[in-house]
Amino acid sequence: MNLSLFEACQLCTSCELSKSRTNVVFSRGNPQANLMVIGEAPGAIEDERGEPFVGRSGALLERLMKSVGIDIDEEAYICNLIKCRPPRNRRPTKSELSACRPWLNKQIEVNQPKIIVLAGATAVDQVLGIKGGLTKIRGNWMSWQGRWVMPVFHPAYLLRNPSLSDGSPTSLTCKDLLAVRDRLNKYDF
Ligand code: SF4
Repeated sequence: MNLSLFEACQLCTSCELSKSRTNVVFSRGNPQANLMVIGEAPGAIEDERGEPFVGRSGALLERLMKSVGIDIDEEAYICNLIKCRPPRNRRPTKSELSACRPWLNKQIEVNQPKIIVLAGATAVDQVLGIKGGLTKIRGNWMSWQGRWVMPVFHPAYLLRNPSLSDGSPTSLTCKDLLAVRDRLNKYDF
């Protein structure tokens, strides 16, 4: 039987998180999109619904993207490094990250995004191998495997720092997403 990537992932038991999950949280959005957004791991609402970025963080990301003219479900494909929720939303361990990495690699291989947004320090570390210093590198285009990569703050961090003033994490993220919109325009015609 030939299972799709989504179906195969639903059956995964490669790490301990399979025991506590309600649902595997594989992706949402458009697999044909030029833009892929990669976050860290699902939270409680994502685990319950089986879709990434559908809780408070997701709603904020959606609003910010909309504010720069990106329709998150039409123009982006959203996923996480880790497909099952870590208990109590703890950080995923190294072994969980490495057990789950083949799924992300497959998603990238199948979808072939031209632009990747990395949301948060863990995604930046795991994909680009850059540890820490997100404040310095966010907003700077990087190149990875022939793709454009934009590191941004994780929306959960923005929720904890809700100021909208000039230079605040949220205003900087809007600026970063605007740069993503501009680059997307070069591909969307
Ligand atoms: S987190 Fe990833 S590796 Fe672990 S069980 Fe879920 S899908 Fe499999």
